[in-house]
This record gives sequence, C-alpha cells and structure tokens, in this order.
Amino acid sequence: MKEACGVVGIVAPGRGVAHLCYDSLYALQHRGQESAGMATFNNQQITVVKDNGLVSHVFADTTLRALAGSLVIGHTRYSTSGSANWTAAQPVFRSAGASGFAIAHNGNLTNTSELADKAGIQVTSMLSDSDLVAELLAREVENGHTLAQALSIVLSIAEGAFSMVILEANAIHAVRDPYGFRPLCLGRLGAEDAPEGWVVASESPALDVIGASFVREIQPGEMLTITNEGVTSTQLLEPAGEKQKLCIFEFVYFARPDTYLMGHQVHTTRRRMGELLAGQSHVEADIVMGVPDSGVPAAEGYAKASGIPFGYGLVKNRYIGRTFIAPDQNKRAASVRRKLNPLRENIEGQRLIVVDDSIVRGTTTQALVKMLRDAGAKEVHLRISSPPFMWPCYFGIDTPTRDDLLAANNSIPEMNAFIGSDTLEFITLANLRSAIQLDGECCDACLTGNYPAPTPVALGASGGRW
Ligand code: SF4
Repeated sequence: MKEACGVVGIVAPGRGVAHLCYDSLYALQHRGQESAGMATFNNQQITVVKDNGLVSHVFADTTLRALAGSLVIGHTRYSTSGSANWTAAQPVFRSAGASGFAIAHNGNLTNTSELADKAGIQVTSMLSDSDLVAELLAREVENGHTLAQALSIVLSIAEGAFSMVILEANAIHAVRDPYGFRPLCLGRLGAEDAPEGWVVASESPALDVIGASFVREIQPGEMLTITNEGVTSTQLLEPAGEKQKLCIFEFVYFARPDTYLMGHQVHTTRRRMGELLAGQSHVEADIVMGVPDSGVPAAEGYAKASGIPFGYGLVKNRYIGRTFIAPDQNKRAASVRRKLNPLRENIEGQRLIVVDDSIVRGTTTQALVKMLRDAGAKEVHLRISSPPFMWPCYFGIDTPTRDDLLAANNSIPEMNAFIGSDTLEFITLANLRSAIQLDGECCDACLTGNYPAPTPVALGASGGRW
C-alpha cells in the first residue's frame, strides 16, 4: 500500500512562509515521495515551484528565499490517479480570475469520468483528479463566481476523498470531504490571544515542527478560509452522516506515530493493537519483534501483554523511501532485502513472534519470513495488527485489485502456507476498533467491503480498480 499525499497551508504575515512550509512538508514526507511543490502569493501573483523528488531535493535555500509573501500552500505526492510524472506534481495552478489559484489535494475522487463528461472534458491518463477539479473551478471562476462559490459548486458534485488546500489572492481555503476520509488539522503560530499566523496540515507533526499549536481538526464538509485577518469557518458541504469516516489505516500504518488523530496519539493506538492481539491467543516464543516502522509499537504492546521479551530483530535502511518501486514480484522480494536486514545474533535459534501492520499481496511478507529463517530463526509466528485486507481502496490509497489481495483469495491457513510462517494470526476487527477507541468513526471498507461512499466500479466477486 502506498500513501497518497500530504498538504500544508500557512498564512503568517511577516514570516518566511516558504521556509515554514518546507519544514512542514518535510514532516509529511512519509505521505508521498514522488514529488513536492509549493505555491505562494506575492505582488499580486501566484508563483508555483514543484518537481519530482523529495522535499529536500526540490527546494534549495535560494529557491525558498525567492518565494516571498505571507501565504503559501505545499504538497508531497504519491499518485493514485493520473500519471506519476512531472505534470502531475502539485500544487496545480490555473490562471482564472484576477490572480489565478493553486490547489494541493490529498485523496482520490471516485466520479472523475462523470465530472469530466458533464463538463465535456476529455479524460486522459495524464489528467489527475486534482487537474480535473482545477479545470472545473476555473470554469466557474470564469463564469463570474468567486473561488469560494466555485468550490461549493464543484465539490458538491465531487465524490470520494478530498482534503484540499487552495491558494488565491490574499486567502487560503482548506476543505475536507463530507466523510472526512483523509486527515486535516488547524494550528496556530503565536499565543492564543495574539496569533501570528495559521497553519493547516495533513498531520499534527507538521504543526509541531514549526512551533505551531494544534487548535482542532477540520470537520467533514467544513471549509476554513484563512487571510491575514484570521480564520473563518463555513459548512461548505453537508457531512455524509453523524459520524465521520477517517481511514482506519491512518492509525494502523499511514500516519506518523507522533500524530494525533481525533484526540488519539497514533503510537498509543498501535501499542494497544499489539496488546489486544496478544490477548487473542498464546504461543510460546523467546522474543517479540516488530517490522519497522509501524509494526514496532504494536510489538511493544504485544510483548507487554504477553510477558515475552521485546527485542529488535530487523534493521531498516532509513534511506529507502516507502515508495521504493518494485516492478515485479521478484524485484518486490529483493526490495525487502534492500530495506530490511536481520540482526542475526538476536534471531539465531530463537522462536520469534513477528508483528507487522498488514498483508496485502503477501510477497513481501513471504520474503521477510524467508530472510528470518535464513538468519537462523527456529520458529516464525506472524501477528498482524490489522484484519485481513480483502477489498481495494478507492479513497486515496493505492492498492492492488481484489485478484491480487492475498486475503481475498485465500483462507488464513492457506495464507500461512504461502508465506511460510509457523503460525499466522490477524487482530480481529472488534479489537482493532477497540484499540483506536473510536466507535464507528472510521472507514474500514478494505477490511469489510462496507464502502461508506459510492465506488467507481461495480464491486462483484472480483472487485477491481478503475
Ligand atoms: S478503504 Fe481502507 S485504506 Fe481506503 S480509506 Fe477506507 S480504511 Fe482507508
């Protein structure tokens, strides 16, 4: 699975907003490593700088110094729709209106064909859903609507997941879809009674890194408009239900451990997943180890609850991004060896409990188990801190079709045999929900098949991807 983008928006008069945005984007690098970009407003014009690569590759200090002004939006990208080349990097700019506007989007629209057909726009593989939204907004602005009115018109007919920041002359808008699939929070620079600026970002560490205080999450369907004068809130779109549907995998895997989502620190929820997983069954073992990074807190929780010592068994190469591209199954297995290396002296002759966050295709897990056995593990008992992943995601996460999802086509004993582990167990959905301590407020469609929003394809037995 791959994440799908991080977004930032900052309004801070008198501060170097591009440098602040750089730091915030750096804190969101895990959400996308294909490209990075920023757009600033200054001297009555919007300037966009974006390129393929990591945040640190795209922006030099000289580039940031040239991006003056008091408003900025930023983006880190992993593609779920459209091409992965430069043209799909964000923010996306359109010149409609007095100074134009720029959009940075985290999510995935599920009715792009319908939206494009209605507007007479030809969908090509080069067109991302963010480009399509920009095009539709530009048409409404050219028809005489303000950008805020255009957002209301266009987003009210858009389906799927979107947490967006949009920059125009002297204002930033931040909008979240009616389900709240992807996170988006508001922070404040300076003291509560004397704010020096405002920040919106996908995850709270992007606020921490620039010294901003967390204020609150943006609600499903809400739009914040931020100017030099302050923040105003509008309920742009009706919430889709009484409870929001934040992606459950933000807790399991995507979000940083130090992120707070709906009042819960992600690291703590991952520890609880491990504790509850340990309570599901008992197996004799010598050491509990986690697969870095997100499996480690769950392994700590497992060790605490089971009384089996926690230890380190795998060293991660920090310089390989989460989006390391492995074009076929053999190379996928090789990519595990590039990313993880066993600590032989901790593993040799040991009965291991190995805690990982998920199994998607199963090929990387299979390679991991083989690597541990080659390093001398006596037994490998796999424990997974999410239930079997059985359905594709259409809401901003890149997943294979159902045909390629191991759990969709195999029983747990068959998965265990394929992977080569001694035993395999998944956390139950009830325990996962209990670990997160949110009652019905998360999307779990890839685990249950209960999609809270319309999907772009009819989901028959084989599922599919558009
Ligand atoms: S389908 Fe799964 S990955 Fe996609 S938003 Fe829902 S919980 Fe998250």
